[in-house]
Amino acid sequence: MKGNRTFTMIKPDAVKAGHIGAILAKINEAGFKIVAMKYTKLSAEKAGEFYAVHSARPFYGELVEFMSSGPIVAAILEKDNAVEDFRDLIGATNPADAKPGTIRAMFAKNIGENAIHGSDSDENATIEGTFHFSGTEIFA
Ligand code: UDP
Ligand code: MG
Repeated sequence: MKGNRTFTMIKPDAVKAGHIGAILAKINEAGFKIVAMKYTKLSAEKAGEFYAVHSARPFYGELVEFMSSGPIVAAILEKDNAVEDFRDLIGATNPADAKPGTIRAMFAKNIGENAIHGSDSDENATIEGTFHFSGTEIFA
């Protein structure tokens, strides 16, 4: 059975550009319930840990620098088929390839500064949610 939770971050580019409200509205309109949320900033160390799976990729250094460059909004979202439906809502990694109306098509600057994160599997949704939130910060 597919899980009903995913993890997201509104990335520093979208926060800086003033898009928090518009992005949260899109998330709500798409039927996701917010079960945990915080406005926070990742240290370079924490950003490196979060994206450790990409540590061998050429963009890793830039990604860590970008993700620790300013505040983010982290959240756990609930909906049937959450992971897949949220990836559909955010669109392709590169906004040039993202379908019109998706969050990345609307708000992302480029393939690196692409406005929003969404977990890619139920397993990673759990790992990533636990990375940012303790049990007492999640309200089912
Ligand atoms: N990224 C990048 N350059 C690339 C690919 C990815 O800077 O060529 C960044 C981008 O911010 C992306 C993140 O690394 O969101 C994680 O990459 P992934 O392939 O997991 O994309 P996502 O799952 O976020 O769509
Ligand atoms: Mg990914």
